[in-house]
Amino acid sequence: MTGRTWIPINGERQVQLYSTEDLVLIERRMRDPTELGPSSLVSPVLESESLVTRVVEDLTTIARDRTSVGNIVKELENCRDGFYEIMRLRENDGVQQGFDEQMQGYRICSEFSVASPPVLGKVKCPFTSPTDSSPDTYHGIKFYDVTRVKDNTTFKFSDFGLHLVKQHHFFGGIGSYVRIDPQEAIDFFGLER
Ligand SMILES: [Zn+2]
Repeated sequence: MTGRTWIPINGERQVQLYSTEDLVLIERRMRDPTELGPSSLVSPVLESESLVTRVVEDLTTIARDRTSVGNIVKELENCRDGFYEIMRLRENDGVQQGFDEQMQGYRICSEFSVASPPVLGKVKCPFTSPTDSSPDTYHGIKFYDVTRVKDNTTFKFSDFGLHLVKQHHFFGGIGSYVRIDPQEAIDFFGLER
């Protein structure tokens, strides 16, 4: 990977600038689930579209609504962290929190409740080298179902999807299981300015 960085159009975070050769390799890995580890056979990361086009279109959506990748990440992290926080509190009270309790979900604040089914496995980040097998290049396919209490609408995301958005500004291919659609996230969390 090249070490150059650029500031994305919404201006809040620096991200790595990949060379064309890197992007070709990354995209190939995304299209070949066997490159990403056994769990990724659940579904391809990217379907029939270009990685660069997808990233540019999604960042344009975010810029149009005058919000940022960081704002979306913050909302998702709040939901995930809130889920584990409540889970810990209940366990501290001596109530073991198994899959049933996690799938039932927790009210994390006045606005949202978050439920989470069991982890489906781990997948290797396609932005990392196939020869790098360190644990931090793998991410859980653990989903969080966020429900907005006032109108009972839900928004779903995974740890892996959150990682791709936060670290690589990639929201997932349209129709793929990792996708965190930026427009849906903006509408759901009310981030439009
Ligand atoms: Zn990564």
